[in-house]
Amino acid sequence: MTTTINNEKNIQIYGQFINGVWQASEETIPVLNKFTGEEFARIGKASREEVDHAVTNALETFQTKNLSPYERYEILIRTAEIIKERKEELALLLVREVGKVLKDARGEIDRGIQTLIASAEEAKRIAGTGVPLGQPGNENKLAFTIRVPVGVIGAITPFNFPFNLTVHKLGPALAAGNTVVLKPAEVTPVIACKIADIFTEAGLPAGFLNVVNGIGQETGQYLLEDERIAMFTFTGSPGVGRHIKSTTGIRRVTLELGNNSPNIVHHDAPDLDKAAELCVTRGYSNAGQACISVQRVYVHQDVYDAFTEKAIKIAESLKVGNPEDPETDIGPMISEKEARRAEEWIQEAEEQGAKVIFGGERNGSILEPTILSDVKPEMKVVCQEVFAPVITLIPYSDIQDAFDQANDSRFGLQVGLFTSNIQLAMRAAQELQFGGIIINDVSSYRADVMPYGGIKDSGIGKEGPHYAVQEMTDEKIVVINL
Ligand code: NAD
Repeated sequence: MTTTINNEKNIQIYGQFINGVWQASEETIPVLNKFTGEEFARIGKASREEVDHAVTNALETFQTKNLSPYERYEILIRTAEIIKERKEELALLLVREVGKVLKDARGEIDRGIQTLIASAEEAKRIAGTGVPLGQPGNENKLAFTIRVPVGVIGAITPFNFPFNLTVHKLGPALAAGNTVVLKPAEVTPVIACKIADIFTEAGLPAGFLNVVNGIGQETGQYLLEDERIAMFTFTGSPGVGRHIKSTTGIRRVTLELGNNSPNIVHHDAPDLDKAAELCVTRGYSNAGQACISVQRVYVHQDVYDAFTEKAIKIAESLKVGNPEDPETDIGPMISEKEARRAEEWIQEAEEQGAKVIFGGERNGSILEPTILSDVKPEMKVVCQEVFAPVITLIPYSDIQDAFDQANDSRFGLQVGLFTSNIQLAMRAAQELQFGGIIINDVSSYRADVMPYGGIKDSGIGKEGPHYAVQEMTDEKIVVINL
């Protein structure tokens, strides 16, 4: 199904997946193993013409073919089953193309399987509501709504969870009866190409899912400019999210963007050991490259020293290195450039008065897990999204001050709070300006079925299959004059 070049490396090339067939592109770009730096695959760079073909095919498919809700359910369930059978192979692919450690890679595949199953279930329960028209003059009217697919959906995905975040878009989009043109992140595209093949094997007819590979500013931009795409579902950086919103006019978009996630550890945290373990390990999983990764940790002064000691102990116990080793906890970042950028932010913070109390060193694309103290709100490691294995510890004495500092951000995706006080927890739910308030767990908690999405610069719209289906359908009112 893919095209393979016959050179000595026998490297697989994924071109453009249009109408159920892989088509070779004129130009290709390499995909690297993020730990060894070796090229292990290539992808085509879709031209404007190729993107046009993909969208034309997706639109024709939407207009001429139809899958019943039960057929969609069966295809999504079968896709989940095939992925389950091939879990180890797909996890190893994530290890190579993302640099994700094996434990995290296996976890991502497991989560993605559940996301597909949840999407399948949604396919069978898409419904509108009855609308009571109780105002005078409407006595003879019966009204209800129905939900219909929006049409062609453009899905644009990031590098950091290229399996689960891709199925978070494809699952609900297909469950709702749409067709999709997917543009995966160019640094981690192979898993998405595998997903396309697996959907075909699971019985998805040609045209429902097309994949265009290439660079964001080129291939992605061609997609944005194609007015036939009814909706974009995007996960990625705030800068690109802003660009998408300003380019797509009145077309619908959902944007899942960044965060500099705060976590508050109050003096009455039910289990300080657990809170420290969660803050540290979830600040470093996926080498800190998660939008809800623990970043700013506000710790009440009464427990600050004890918490710090525990945090350092946990960080010391983590194994850093080769992501293929099942024992490794922290692998490389996506590129040496990104690791260098994070290192520079740490050094800049140090120059401004911060202390590195653990880690801080870089070796190629591997940045040691790092803990900073004595930070100030204006330092980049605090006020921007660090997207690296770096956490900052900030003491507070007044909970209102901790809330204010947590809210003092252009982002608002998720926040964690550790406390035994139910009243404080409920106050946090009201006052913390985030899409998700997680009590007694960290900001990075996510169940794939829950409504997930931020406020402020963290984006618009919700993911989670049930909620994404609402975003990916149009609600029509039907009024019957009896
Ligand atoms: P990115 O914005 O650089 O790229 C994301 C996608 O957008 C890629 O497919 C890229 O090719 C494409 N793109 C880039 N420029 C484009 C353009 N001009 N037009 C169309 N498409 C374009 O993001 P990334 O570096 O891959 O991912 C990291 C970011 O994603 C972080 O900011 C992180 O917080 C965010 N993220 C958010 C969530 C969430 O659910 N909120 C989840 C994961 C990652």
